[in-house]
Amino acid sequence: MEFSGRTWRPPYERDTPIIEATTGCAWGTCSFCSLYEEEHFSVGSLERFERELDEVKACIPNTRRLWLTGGSPFQMSFEQLEARANAVRDRLIKCQSIAMFASVRDIARKTDGELRRLRALQVNGLTIGVESGNDEALALARKGYTARDVIEQLTRLDCAGIEYNVTYVTGLLGAGRGRWHAHTTADVLNRLNPKIIAVSSLTAFPGTKLYEEVRSGSFTMPDEAERLEELKTFLSEIQLRVHLEASSKSNAVPVMGMLPLDKALIIAKLEAAIEEERRTNPNRHFRAELSSLGWDKERSEDLSSKSARSRLTYASLKGPRRDENQPTLKALPL
Ligand code: SF4
Repeated sequence: MEFSGRTWRPPYERDTPIIEATTGCAWGTCSFCSLYEEEHFSVGSLERFERELDEVKACIPNTRRLWLTGGSPFQMSFEQLEARANAVRDRLIKCQSIAMFASVRDIARKTDGELRRLRALQVNGLTIGVESGNDEALALARKGYTARDVIEQLTRLDCAGIEYNVTYVTGLLGAGRGRWHAHTTADVLNRLNPKIIAVSSLTAFPGTKLYEEVRSGSFTMPDEAERLEELKTFLSEIQLRVHLEASSKSNAVPVMGMLPLDKALIIAKLEAAIEEERRTNPNRHFRAELSSLGWDKERSEDLSSKSARSRLTYASLKGPRRDENQPTLKALPL
């Protein structure tokens, strides 16, 4: 099994076997992200994909789910996705879902008929980097779509029967506006049907546009208490039956649970943390010590060398790779 690009995936996909279909991110302009800054977007050949599927089949023929790597595999054309889904169907007869990152822009490029056909071929469980339901925050983050686009495109997934998870980034509107960001984002997500809402919190990592904006003073980051207040407001207003996962390393106080069942418990935990944050500010250094989300110096040097391709045994694909989680660069202190 060979990977020429980053193999980053959401924490809840940690046990899903991965296979490379694309590398890099075709968009690459989000203000807070430097995840794929050293990789160009490219689509791997179908022949190579089939060869690697044969390897997956030899190791775990009964796998029920696959994760396609890359920042935006759903950027592939319908024909490219269809060919890869057919290749999976021909080899892994028990595979029930082919999951991957997808953006709102990628969905918009597919017709309703193409979405339905992809669903019939087991393309399902997409993770959409929505990040916000607030137009100003989406523009600040340079996501390239509006809240209305989010509602329209994810509703099209609902109609096609494609299940999806969404991301939400607290702090995206800056200091003093957390509650409004929560309110407007909850209002958008309440009209949709995500299975998981994965929450992270805005962090200014070196190499990002956001880092420069914070340094120049044009953007002010919220403190940890305001981030927790934002998450509490969001939880209070979300009216979905959904799994909340705010446990990635950018969350100073990790919380997770099934909503609405665990809502009161999570809110109580957040209220206690907010009070403590206001009293003794225990997480004042938390973000400054945070490593970037997947950015890794060793990996970067590896990718820039002539012999960039990493060869992994299949056993190493089950569970997070160490090089995706190593702390390297420090985030900008508040
Ligand atoms: S956040 Fe996602 S879409 Fe934006 S640049 Fe990073 S990988 Fe690409």
